[in-house]
Order: sequence, then C-alpha cells, then structure tokens
Amino acid sequence: MFRLTRVYSIVSFLGMLLVAIAIGVFYRTIAVRSLIEHESQANVSLTQALSNTLFPKYSDFVLQAAGIPPNELGERPEVASLREDVLQKIRGLRVVKVKIYDPDGLTVFSTEPREIGEKKSNNAGFQRAKSGATASDLVFRDHFSATEQVIENRNLLSSYIPFRRNPGGPVEGVFEIYADVTTLVRDIRRTEYTVLAGVTVLLFLLYLFLLIIVRRADRIIRHHESEERRAQQEQIHYMAYHDPLTGLPNRALFKDRLQHAVNHVERNGLSIGILFIDLDRFKNINDSLGHEAGDRVLIEAAKRIRSCLREVDTACRIGGDEFMVILERLSLTDEAVLAAGRLINKFAEPIRIGSREILVTVSVGISIYPDVTKNAERLLKDADAAMHAAKDSGRNRYVFYTKELDARAQESVEFEMGLRRALPREEYVIHYQPLVNTSSGAITGVEALLRWQHPERGLIQPNRFIPLLEDTGMIIAVGEWVLLQACRQCQRWHDSGHGTLRVAANLSMKQFRSSSLLANVRQALEVSGLPPRYLELELTESVLVDDAEQALEMMRELKKIGVSLSIDDFGTGYSSLNYLRHFPVDLLKIDGSFIRDVVRNRGDAAITAAIAALARSLHLGILAEGVETREQASFLRSIGCHDLQGLLFSGALPPEQLAPLLGNLNVLKLAGVEPDPIVSGTGNSATARPQ
Ligand code: C2E
Ligand code: MG
Ligand code: MG
Repeated sequence: MFRLTRVYSIVSFLGMLLVAIAIGVFYRTIAVRSLIEHESQANVSLTQALSNTLFPKYSDFVLQAAGIPPNELGERPEVASLREDVLQKIRGLRVVKVKIYDPDGLTVFSTEPREIGEKKSNNAGFQRAKSGATASDLVFRDHFSATEQVIENRNLLSSYIPFRRNPGGPVEGVFEIYADVTTLVRDIRRTEYTVLAGVTVLLFLLYLFLLIIVRRADRIIRHHESEERRAQQEQIHYMAYHDPLTGLPNRALFKDRLQHAVNHVERNGLSIGILFIDLDRFKNINDSLGHEAGDRVLIEAAKRIRSCLREVDTACRIGGDEFMVILERLSLTDEAVLAAGRLINKFAEPIRIGSREILVTVSVGISIYPDVTKNAERLLKDADAAMHAAKDSGRNRYVFYTKELDARAQESVEFEMGLRRALPREEYVIHYQPLVNTSSGAITGVEALLRWQHPERGLIQPNRFIPLLEDTGMIIAVGEWVLLQACRQCQRWHDSGHGTLRVAANLSMKQFRSSSLLANVRQALEVSGLPPRYLELELTESVLVDDAEQALEMMRELKKIGVSLSIDDFGTGYSSLNYLRHFPVDLLKIDGSFIRDVVRNRGDAAITAAIAALARSLHLGILAEGVETREQASFLRSIGCHDLQGLLFSGALPPEQLAPLLGNLNVLKLAGVEPDPIVSGTGNSATARPQ
C-alpha cells in the first residue's frame, strides 16, 4: 500500500543530503578557487617586490649561477646575502619558503639551503612559469621544511612566478613561493560547515512544515482509499446477494434470511409464511414481445410484489419468473392468505410496456412454518408444489400446501414419464376437425389435432400435455409424427374421393425454429404422396415477432415447397398488424375468444369485422375458430369469413368418424345456418377464399 508520509520522508532526507553535498562541494570549490586566486596574486605582488629590490643587486649572480658548480653554489657569499634580504622581506608574511631558479631550472637560491643547486627544469609549474604564466597549486603537506623550522600538517599555496626585467622581455628567472594558507583553508571549512548546518536546519524546518501537510494529505488519502474499498466490498456483497435485474435479494440471500427467520420462530413462537410466486405464461411474453419486454415485466412484477409486503417481509427473485416471499412474525396463518390475495389483486391491473398493456397474472403457492413441516428446505418444496397446484387449477390464484398436494406432485412426475413413452408406445392419436366453407357449405379442409390415448386415464386433450412436450423438446419428434400422419390421412381421403380436401397441422414455436422442419415437411409430403398445396401449416403470432428475419426466411422456404401458411389464434398475440404485410401468409384464423361473444358483444364484433376487412384487403383467407351457434356462423359469413370451424359443425373426430360428414355437400345447411340471400347460389366473392 502506498504510504505518502513514508515516501515523503525518505525522499526528503535523500533530497536534503544531496542538497547539502551539492552546496558543500559548490561552496568549497568557489572558496578554494578564490583563495588560490587571492593568494597567487599576493605571491605575484611579493615576487614583484622581491625582484624590484633584489634583482638589480643579484641579477648577475643569478644569470651566471649556471657556471658555478652546484655544490659550491650554496657557499657563495651572494647566497647568504640574498637569504638575509629575502628573510627580511618576507617577515610577517604568510610566506614560508622562497626559491629562485635561473631560466634553465637550476635552484640558485632557496630559503631551505640544501635545495640550492637542484635542477627543476622538468617541473610542470616551472615550465609554465618559464613560458610566462603564473602557476599556483594548493597542496597539503604533513611535513614541510619552512624557512626557519619544519612545519607539519599545513595547507600550502605554491606559486611559480616568472620575472623579467622589461615587460615583454625574456624570462630571466622563476620565483617559487610557498604561502601557508592553513588558517584560511580552515576558515573556509568552518564557514562551509556553518553554511551546511544553516541550510540543513532550514531544510529540516521546511521538511517539518511540509510533513504536517503531507501527513494530513496521507490521512485523507487513506481515509478515501478505505472508503473506496468498503464501497467496493459492499458492491461485491450486494451483487453476490441480489438479483441484478430487479434488485431483490437472490436465492443465496433468501436462504440466509429464511434460516434467520426460522431461528426467530424458535424464540418468539410465531409462524413464517412462504409464498412461491410464478408469473403465468411469462414464456409467451418473452417469446412474443422479446426479452427486453420480458425484463420490464419482471421489474414491474418485483415492484408490485414488494409493494404489498410489510417491512419485516422479504421478497426474492429466485430465478426466471419465480419469486419467493418470506412473511415473518405471523400470528395467524390467515395473514399469509391475505398477503397472497393482496398480491393477486395487485396484478389485476395491466402492465404497461411502451404503448402496450399486458395483463400478467400470478400463481401463488403458500406454505407455513411450523405447520406440516419443521424443515426449512421442505418448506420451500411445499410452497413450490402448492404453486404448481395453483397453475394446474387454472392459474391466477393461490393454493395452500396440504399433504394431498404431494400425491398430485407425484402424479405429475408419472405423467411426464408416461408422456416420454407415448410416442414409441404409439399412444398418440390424431383427431380431425372440419373446416367449413361459407360459400359452398362444404367441408373444404380439416385441422389435425393431437390427443394422447393414455392407458389409464383415457383420452387426454392437447392443452394438458403440449406445454410439457414443448418444455422437454419432445414436441419436435411428436410434431414430425403428426405431420406425417396428417398428410397420409389426407391422401387417404383424396384416394377415397375427397380430392380437394386440405389438411391443417399445428406447428409449435420450437418446431418452427428447428433446423429439421423443412426436411420433415418434404419427407411427409413425399412419403404420403400428398400434393403440397393441400397441406396448411398453422403458426402462432409469436413467430412473427421473435426473430422476424429468421422467421421470414423459414416461411419463404416453406412457401417454396408449395404448402400454405396460416396464423392460428389470430388476435391473441402481440404482433403488429404491420407484420402481416411482410410475411408470406395465406390465411388468418381468428381466435375463438373473439367469436364466443361476437353476437352479443359489440367490441368483439367490431374487432372480428375489422380483422376480416384487413384480411380481405391483404388478399388473405379468413377463418373463424370456435363457432358454436348459428348466429355466430351467420354473422361471420356476413362479414366475409371464408371458412368456419367449431362445435356447431363438428368437434375433432377420429378419421373414421369424420368420413360420413365429409360426404355431406352442405354442412352449413345441416347445421341449420340460414342460406345467405346475397351469397346463395351466386358464389359471391365476399366469401370466396382468395387463391
Ligand atoms: P388450436 O390450434 O387453436 O385448435 C383449436 C382448438 O379449439 C382445439 O382444441 C379444438 O378442439 C377447439 N375447438 C374447436 N371448435 C371449438 C368450439 O366450437 N368451441 C370451443 N370451445 N373449442 C373449440 P384442442 O384440440 O384441445 O387443441 C388445443 C390446442 O392444442 C390447439 O389449438 C393447438 O394450439 C394445440 N395443438 C393441438 N394439436 C397440436 C399438434 O399436433 N401440434 C401442436 N404444436 N399443437 C397442437
Ligand atoms: Mg390450430
Ligand atoms: Mg386456434
């Protein structure tokens, strides 16, 4: 983790160290340079003074010294006299040694007598001086023979200085002068230390001042970081325990809350109610309006569920369209029933999705703790079983869990197992319901309707088992079988003289989407020998809405085979009428729910007439389902329906029972429907189905 104070302190100390070193080096360099310059200048001035006073007197000696043997040079009286004069001149000065060289580097004179006669022509300082420049150098000597004694540990400035009689003339000798600058160097060092100490103190004060700010900033940053971490953890926790779509607690949190509630019950002796809620026919909404609409329904459902609960209750979404509610601290089980009732009422109002209003109902299962069971897991299973019982008994209701429900649940497991075996055991049968033409009164087609001949329960209607076939995917194999049987049967009728009879087979959404559909249709036609124009496939509106592109493609392929396509239960789905223009549909089958009250209810009559008019203008065939009365038939014929289907003529029958009816030329008349005065005998185009 980033600790600002620590980083600041380390960086500051390193910075202070670097600044101190830099200032020290800088100061010393400048001070030593100016010391050298200053002392060199003093040595030059001294040389000037010496040469002015001594040279007239000793110039001949210096110039001729090269001719004197070196060992004798020190014994010469000029040397002794020169020494006297030099010592006098340098008395009181910092100068500790003076040497004089002739132009060839011979030491003619030195305040240190044993050096007289030595050759220094190779010395760099001497050579520089001989070329006319002054050469100075600061040196440290731990042991140095000065003029009058040996001195120790000294900083000395040595200068080689040329002297000439005339400015611009030749160099006639070189002075070497040593000045003792130890005290000056010591002063420089002392000043350096003082400066360093001052700078360090100032920097340290600055460090302390900034430290206060940095520590405060550090605290703020750490506080901010820990807040952020806490918020992240809360977010992760929230996501782990909540459903992202509705914001309700999820299954994991639900179990937790349930356990908590159960523990509470042990202490306070009250009860808990569990409501298992499932939206009715939610799959239809998803299939026909798309998943986005489905999601919005779920969000609204969650809101409604939450709104009829108390603060202490918990509502959770445990998956798909299933919700669970924990009702805590119930003193009477009736309170759970009241809550379930409130919930069902809450859904009486349609849910608005964009411009549509959708009526969504719920089925609710109720179980109570402690009642039948004291096991929390079992409590949920019981509520689930009760919810399924609510579905089975017609949806949009609640059912209280009882022990008998278990037996029902067991039954439904057996039902499903039986359904899986029905196809190989050849327990399916197809009944055919006639489609009666309103112009001719004759049966022009039949709809193939599946039944399950259950070995124990007898004939079971499709609404009981088709949803299960769809859920389990078995519908594809069963649908394939239906297609083949329907085509075969129709061809048999053709062979027995009803050569224009067409057969309609229902396709479920799954079947329509299956990749094998085209091959199945082709095979059924081929195997049966039925010409494609006599086969009609019934689709539901939902196929037009969901993945319209793919549906269009599939419908075109089917049309290429030559079969006709109809929209079943028209008016009950959510498809836009606009779709009809784009899809290659031949026939609309108006749903029986509009027909039921078509004679009494003006709204239903208006809708039915409008659908008929729409179909006519789009050149589509129009059929009305669920025709049960003569009045309905007359009305439907009057608004231009081409075909009628319903109990008025016949229910769905096994093929052998349908045979006598097929031979009847005017089933309409047989059913007692008065002949239409305009239509009869004229073959009026209002009821003639478009080709
Ligand atoms: P559907 O395709 O709309 O079929 C019409 C339903 O209305 C049939 O119910 C029929 O018996 C019933 N019906 C006919 N006339 C009347 C009437 O006058 N009054 C009333 N109240 N009802 C009438 P059924 O046979 O129970 O079939 C129900 C649904 O099951 C069918 O509705 C269809 O959607 C589905 N279905 C039936 N067979 C198959 C099949 O082989 N495959 C698929 N995927 N679905 C099928
Ligand atoms: Mg149908
Ligand atoms: Mg129908």
